[in-house]
Amino acid sequence: MSHSKRAHNFNAGPAALPLEVLEQAQAEFVDFRGIGMSIMEISHRSKEYEQVHNETQALFKQLLNLPDSYKVLFLQGGATLQFSMVPMNCLKPGTTGNYVATGAWADKAMKEAKKVGAIHTAASGQASNFTKIPAPNEINLTPDAAYLHITTNETIAGSQFQQFPDTGSVPLIADMSSDMLSRPFDASQFALIYAGAQKNLGPSGVTVVLMREDMAVESPSNLPIMLKYDTYFGQNSLYNTPPVYSIYMMNLVLQWIVKNGGLAAIERKNKEKAQVIYDAIDHSGGFFEGMIDPASRSLMNITFKLHDEQLEGKFIKESEAQGFVGLKGHRSVGHMRASTYNAVPRESCKALADFMADFQRRNG
Ligand SMILES: *Cc1c(COP(=O)(O)O)cnc(C)c1O
Repeated sequence: MSHSKRAHNFNAGPAALPLEVLEQAQAEFVDFRGIGMSIMEISHRSKEYEQVHNETQALFKQLLNLPDSYKVLFLQGGATLQFSMVPMNCLKPGTTGNYVATGAWADKAMKEAKKVGAIHTAASGQASNFTKIPAPNEINLTPDAAYLHITTNETIAGSQFQQFPDTGSVPLIADMSSDMLSRPFDASQFALIYAGAQKNLGPSGVTVVLMREDMAVESPSNLPIMLKYDTYFGQNSLYNTPPVYSIYMMNLVLQWIVKNGGLAAIERKNKEKAQVIYDAIDHSGGFFEGMIDPASRSLMNITFKLHDEQLEGKFIKESEAQGFVGLKGHRSVGHMRASTYNAVPRESCKALADFMADFQRRNG
């Protein structure tokens, strides 16, 4: 089968998946590994599914070198439900949820937490209009901090933490929805990490939660069972039916990462890909302008504008005609955004840089 018509997919989410993964899923779609049924048509308690489930957890542990005190949980409700579940489970009366305000996604997390209990903005990028990620030494925790919550990659603004704060005994919680498994990092620094799958891990429908065991045990007993972390923690995320197909797809994506050399190799490739596009911006003599302070730029979501904003409509229209998808910035921000998640090939980034240079030649 020819895939010469695959788009240059820069969608922000749901986003590109590796072609090899799609092809393997296609090959096993109707008959999963010889059982005469698809994986969607069997019990979530069957040995065939259970193997996929447990293997996916093991792959997370392997790729992130997760200590034994952590479990990999599979939830539904997206990263957005985690905005509520984190404070519902972890923000006890008399404590304060500390948050770093980095942009639109951190803001949403804070809004939900405020409905549950007391919150404190421990640092904010507001003074720079969220073009800079606050430095670790700018973060001020309250003495009664239940946790510090950070958004490691602001998908809409295009900013990313380059260095994580050391919070000592205060649990560090992170929304990694848009940069999970894009680079190696010390996961043992974090008490809890969550990520909706549809940016960098697989299709939508599953949210991964990596949780240190001490975070699961004490959620309030009156919480609905599906909102309690201990339900997932204690029953291996099989209290009820998990999103089987999404987890299966994520399994294939994680195997693809392992096959491609793991997180160090993925990061090297992601850096090269982002560099090609940031170079096209920075070497354009001001024709294109990056929107984030260079020290806080994201490797996953590259936001930029045209100095002559009148040309942006033309840029988007011509890019679409040439097979580029998803370059229009988020509706709340406008301008342009190229999302260069793990599965976006280097060739697509190179093609975009070439298109940008060509557009500048014709319109500069
Ligand atoms: C996309 C995104 C979310 C929301 O994810 P859903 O799975 O749609 O709820 C939250 N945080 C970040 C950083 C995101 O990129």
